[in-house]
Formats: sequence, C-alpha cells, structure tokens
Amino acid sequence: MRTPETITLIGAGLNGPLLATSLRKRGLAVKIYERRSDMRKIRVSAGRSINLALSTRGIHALAQAGLWEAMRPIIIPMKGRMMHSNTGELTFQPYGKDESEVINSISRAELNIALLNAAEAAGATIHFQQRCTGFDLTTGAIKLRNDESGAETIVQSKVVIGCDGSASAIRSEMLKLSDFNFSQQYLDYGYKELTIPASADGEHLLETHALHIWPRGNCMLIALPNIDGTFACILFLPLAGTESFAELDTDADVVKFFKTRFPDALNLIPQLAKNYFSNPTGSMVTIKCAPWHVEGKSLLLGDAAHAIVPFFGQGINCGFEDCSALLDLLDRYGADWPRVFREFEEQRKVNTDAIADMAIENFVEMRDRVADPRFLFRKKVELALEAKYPRQFVPKYAMVTFHRIPYSVALTRGIIQERILAELCDPIQRVEDLDWTRAEQLIGSELPPLGEIS
Ligand SMILES: Cc1cc2nc3c(=O)[nH]c(=O)nc-3n(C[C@H](O)[C@H](O)[C@H](O)COP(=O)(O)OP(=O)(O)OC[C@H]3O[C@@H](n4cnc5c(N)ncnc54)[C@H](O)[C@@H]3O)c2cc1C
Repeated sequence: MRTPETITLIGAGLNGPLLATSLRKRGLAVKIYERRSDMRKIRVSAGRSINLALSTRGIHALAQAGLWEAMRPIIIPMKGRMMHSNTGELTFQPYGKDESEVINSISRAELNIALLNAAEAAGATIHFQQRCTGFDLTTGAIKLRNDESGAETIVQSKVVIGCDGSASAIRSEMLKLSDFNFSQQYLDYGYKELTIPASADGEHLLETHALHIWPRGNCMLIALPNIDGTFACILFLPLAGTESFAELDTDADVVKFFKTRFPDALNLIPQLAKNYFSNPTGSMVTIKCAPWHVEGKSLLLGDAAHAIVPFFGQGINCGFEDCSALLDLLDRYGADWPRVFREFEEQRKVNTDAIADMAIENFVEMRDRVADPRFLFRKKVELALEAKYPRQFVPKYAMVTFHRIPYSVALTRGIIQERILAELCDPIQRVEDLDWTRAEQLIGSELPPLGEIS
C-alpha cells in the first residue's frame, strides 16, 4: 500500500479523534491540530457542555473502533420522550417498539475526553492551541497560530482532512475555488444551555431514562440526563420577535417567561436567571457544500462538510457514520486517496443532504406536533404496522435512529409512509379500527421489503 508519511487532521472535536484512532489502527501516522486548549486540563467553556443523543450509527462506529464498551459507564439510555404540558401533566411516548430501541444521553465533554484519550493511546499526536488560519490546497502547507502567544508556524502535509466543524477553515479555502458550491441556512431560532441540578442526595429530579420535552409551539425546552444526577437543558427560542431571546433582557424577564411557559421547570432551576445570562445564545445552521475533496490531498468530514440542525439528534451519529464509510473505502482501496475521497463523497453526500432536510422537518415535529393527540395516535398506528410488517413498514424515526438504513432511503420511504398513514388514520380514532386489508394493499404495492436491515 502506498502510504503518505502523515495524515493531518484539523480539529480535535468529536470526529477528529475518532477518525485518528481508527487510522492509527491501520498503521497510518496521524497528527491533529486543534485551536482550543486541551479540555482535559482546563474547564470546559460555557456553551460546550450540551449533551448529545447517541444512537445506532454512532454506536456502530464507536464499536468498530473498539470504544463503545468503555463508553457505557458515561451514557444514560433514554427510552422515550417525556412531554411536560403547561399545567405540569406528564405523558411518556416510547421512542421505539421495545426497550432495545433507546437513544443514549452522553455529555459532549465526557465523550470528547474519551476520544482524545483513545486517539493518543492509539499513537496519534494532538497539538492543542493551534488554530488553522490558512491552507494551500496545492502544496498542502497549513498555517497555524497559537491564539495565546500569537506564534505562527507552517506545517506541510500530503493529506489533510478538515474535521474542524461547521465554521471549517479548510472549507473556507475550498470556497475560493471556482467550482465549489456552498449554501448555509440559519434558523431564526437560537439555543441556550441551562442546568437542572441534582437533588441533595445526588439523584435526578425528573425521570432519569427519558428525554424531557416542554413543547410550546413557538418555543421549546428539552432536558437530557447526566450521570451526576443533573440534567443538561436546552432552551430553543426565536432570536427576535415575541417570546424571543431578544425580549429577555433582565432576570425578571427570564423568570416571568418561565413562570408563564415552563412553570414546572422554573421550580427545578433555582439559579435560572444567573444560569441564563452566563451562557451564550447559540445559532443553528444547515450547511451543504460540494465537492468535499480536492484531488487526493484534502477532504472535509463531519460538520465541516455538512452541518445540520440538532432536532433529529443525528449530527454526530452522521459524522461518526462518515468515519465508518471512509475507513471502509480505505480498507477496500488502500491509500488511493483520490479514489477513496471521490467515492466517499459519492456515497455520503446524498445521505447527508437527506438527514439535513429531515432534521429541519423534525424541528417542527418536536416543537408543535409531539403534544398533538392525532400525532400520538399516528405513532401508535405506526408501531402496529411495524409489528405486522417489520421488513416493510419501519417508522422514519426508527430508520434514522435505530438502524443504519441510508438516510436517503429513510427520507424517501418516510414520505411514502406518511401518505399511507394519512389514508389509514384519517377516518379512524382507535387502532382496533384500522383497515388491515387496505394497509396490506398499500404497503405491499408501495414499500418493497428493506432486505437485510442492519
Ligand atoms: C445544541 C446542539 C445539540 C446537538 N445535539 C446532538 C445530538 O443529540 N446528537 C448528535 O448526534 N449530534 C448533536 N449535535 C451535533 C453535534 O454536536 C455535531 O454534529 C458534532 O459536534 C460535529 O462533530 P465535528 O467533530 O464534525 O465538529 P466539532 O465537534 O464542532 O469539532 C470541531 C473541532 O475543530 C476545532 N476547530 C475549529 N476550527 C478550527 C481551526 N481553524 N483550527 C483548528 N481547530 C479548529 C474546534 O475547536 C473543535 O474542537 C448537536 C449540536 C448542537 C449545536
């Protein structure tokens, strides 16, 4: 196998160290340059402590790298959504058909630390406080700057992979090419992290094994459990207008807003206003671009290639699936980087575009529809159809979250299934009244069996 001296990765967020670990295991030399300080030595900065929901695609990639079992102590399985109504009633809606179908809450910082440790243990070198400020796509010269000391260096690499997230510096260089396509679409919503502390004896104050949602139409609060008894919450609000981040200027504004919209959550966050004003308001963007590679010299991967909004909980699951796909191609073709990069993009782009679109759709579902009784009824019918036709009718949420069915297939079949559900559910109020003959006809004619479902 013709191997270059070193593969250089820009960014030691989540995808960089996972990819580095697996590249090292294949005998390649790996260096990572990361703009931040080493998070194992300094406290995680505000705005970086959000939890992630890890599901099948992410778990598969971690397992391939031999890292999943070690993650178990730092995850909390969430079996479903716990909806909090305005008057404090709770409704539980399971995510899957049984208790094997769960999503897993994990702290981003804990996951990042575990991945950094794994990459170093595998022999990758990570250089912190090294911001990539420029990259020559022809020569492979990478300009780096230490933001603290101002020191600047240039390193050379034949193969550079940009794992540097949604504001990728490597992508900025590609943007200068005449044939580079790029679109970014910001939501007019922002997000803010808040924390529900643990009880005095370190227990969770809400049901542990659920993702809690306060769906309120134009705004939403969610909470994911942490292993220390706290919940990491994310408040989603419009950036401007009525009930927006722009309107909440003072401690009193924030408390009043919570009293009206999330009264039961207010009681759980004693330091609400302090918590609110000490965290930044984040923005959410969908980024699509192409091509992701320049010959066999540089490639974009993860959020750098395809940032998506967080409402399907798939950003990192999708990024880790990128890592699996790239490694499969490397195993098949060896270090024939032009071919590996070209086929990687051909395989992944259609799928990352699909999850980007489904993530935006799911924003509306989480915000508006999860509290709607007809939506909940449809979910029950979906599960009944899946039980009877497990190879044909797999709910879209399950195809995305509990299987590794390509995202583009989930999107296409999801649209067909929505149509079938509408026809079957609209005339009835109870699952018992489902017209199974019509269901058989529709599913038989429109949904070919999925084959080996993984
Ligand atoms: C509110 C929110 C909730 C989310 N929830 C989920 C979820 O539940 N499930 C899920 O799967 N995904 C979720 N995501 C998405 C997930 O966080 C991202 O998809 C994931 O972090 C992308 O990983 P990455 O390694 O590509 O980029 P990042 O994790 O952003 O890492 C990029 C790294 O590159 C470094 N870097 C950036 N620029 C430079 C530079 N110029 N030079 C050197 N280093 C640089 C950064 O410091 C960072 O360490 C969520 C995202 C948000 C915002």
